[in-house]
Formats: sequence, C-alpha cells, structure tokens
Amino acid sequence: LVDPAVSKTGPRSPGAAAGGAVDVVQVRAVTKTFRSLDGRRRTAVDDVSFTLAAGEALGLVGESGSGKSTTARLVLAEFEPDAGSVLLDGEPWSGPRERDRRARRSRIQLVDQDPLGSFDPRFTVEQVIAEALGPGAPVNGSEGGRPEAPGSGVRGGRPFGSGAGARRERVVELLAAVGLDAGFLVRGPARLSGGQRQRVAIARALAPGPEVLVCDEPVSALDVTVQAQILALLARLRREAGLSLLFISHDLGVVRQVCDRVAVMKDGAIVEIGEVDAVFRAPRHPYTAALLAAVP
Ligand code: ADP
Ligand code: MG
Repeated sequence: LVDPAVSKTGPRSPGAAAGGAVDVVQVRAVTKTFRSLDGRRRTAVDDVSFTLAAGEALGLVGESGSGKSTTARLVLAEFEPDAGSVLLDGEPWSGPRERDRRARRSRIQLVDQDPLGSFDPRFTVEQVIAEALGPGAPVNGSEGGRPEAPGSGVRGGRPFGSGAGARRERVVELLAAVGLDAGFLVRGPARLSGGQRQRVAIARALAPGPEVLVCDEPVSALDVTVQAQILALLARLRREAGLSLLFISHDLGVVRQVCDRVAVMKDGAIVEIGEVDAVFRAPRHPYTAALLAAVP
C-alpha cells in the first residue's frame, strides 16, 4: 500500500517541500550483484531498505567496499537493481520513457569526490555551471562578457540577449549560494583549489533545482579545514534550500557533523540505522562500535 502523502505526482510535490513527514526517497529491498572478472558473482548491495525524508540528512557509513557507492548509484537510477525498487516522491524510478527518466534525474543530483575531474580543462566555471542549467540561451563567453555564439536562444537576435543575460545572472546566483563571487566565472577548473572545485561542483549540482543531493565522499579528498567549510556549506544549503541529503562517507566523524540519522553498511547490508546521537551514544551492532572506536 502506498501512503497517499507520498503518492503525489508532479515535478514538485508540495508536501515534500513543506513538511518533514514525507519520504522523498524510498529504497525498498534493493539488491545488486556484479559479476567479477573471474566470473564469480558478488552481491554489492544486499536487500537494503531505507527512507530519506524531505529536508533530512541521512548518512551512509561503512568501510571501503561495503556497498555505499553502489547504493548511491541505485538511488540515482544509474542502473536498475536486480531486485527491489527505489521511489522518488512515491513514484518508481524507471519510467517507460527516457524523457521521464531525464526529468527525474534533475531532481536528484550527485556530488562525489571530484565531480569536476571529468570536465574539459578548457571549460570555464561559467560554462560548467551553465551547462547544468539545461537547454536554453547560449552562455556568454568568458572574455569580457562577449557572447561566443549568439543564436537560437537569444530573443530578437540581439548579441546581449536577455536569455544569455538571465543565464549568466543565474550562474552568478548559484556561485553566490556556494560562497564564490562573480570573479570565478572566467576561471578554469585548473585554477581552482580543491575546496573551490567542490563549491563549483555543488553549484553545478544545484543548477537543475534538485530536491535531493547524493554526496558520495564529498570531502574525502580535502584538507580538514577545507572539509569543515564544505560541510558547513552543505548544512546551510540544506537549511536554506530545504534539500534532502544522502551523505556517504567512510568517516563517522564527518557524518556526525552533517546528518540527522545514519545507516551503517557492512558487506552490502545495513546492519544498523538510527538517530546519529543515539548511534554514537549506544551503538547496537558490534561493527558500529568498532567503527566508532576508530573516530578520534
Ligand atoms: P563502497 O562505496 O562502500 O566502497 P562500492 O559500492 O563501490 O563500495 O562496492 C561494493 C562492492 O561492489 C565492492 O566489492 C566492489 O568491488 C563491487 N563493485 C562495485 N562496482 C562494481 C562494478 N561496476 N563491477 C564489479 N564490481 C563492482
Ligand atoms: Mg564508494
């Protein structure tokens, strides 16, 4: 039976935006098995279930190989589970049409360890973020605001059309939301520090206006002081934009700073899930206790 509160359709269910009672993501008994090079099957995710409420931050911890990233990719619908299902606002992920799948994907975005790593180094920050805004007016070139390719999206054929201007404004807004000024528009990824790269990556993830951010080890490549800044940024975005976070880390200390609840994964299964404070105070599973012992 589907709870009517979570069976609403539409790109933004009002219930999901307003209250904390609605589960934005429901992961129901998902299993995913990979066949390794030697032909043996290995169950990466084994009968995993959890929910993510609107505005909630749920941590997913566990050692390397425990199935965290595979769970993230199932939630992002990068591939189908062998069994079980993932629902977004009560709707199953895999729609009949690719167009529907794409529309859903803009509602749930990924930030991983180095999201800009795959970007052409010749791209500017403005281009990286504007690309994620979706189809529309061409983006102004980086040299003094001169458009490189005024065209289809620019109304009236004016070289400085309102479409391009509005897009740049939106990019500047997104940069501001992650604590970067407009001076960063013209920078290339190579001229960014690790923390700045991650801020740009978060701005890019915010561009389609997602409800959910899946963060897969988002601060693992960063120095501790920069880690703290990015964690504070994610916490603020969650508060201000009402984002829900699925926050994955092998580091329980980091999860404690960001999350309301935490799920502990071991060998593809969730061995414990609960309020962060409670799990820290009194872990119920010996594996959780062992993980906690490693937290400074
Ligand atoms: P974590 O993110 O917790 O380190 P992963 O989800 O990446 O764990 O991996 C879980 C298990 O699944 C590991 O044993 C890993 O080797 C295996 N695995 C993940 N992706 C693939 C894949 N594409 N092909 C084969 N095995 C995979
Ligand atoms: Mg991983």
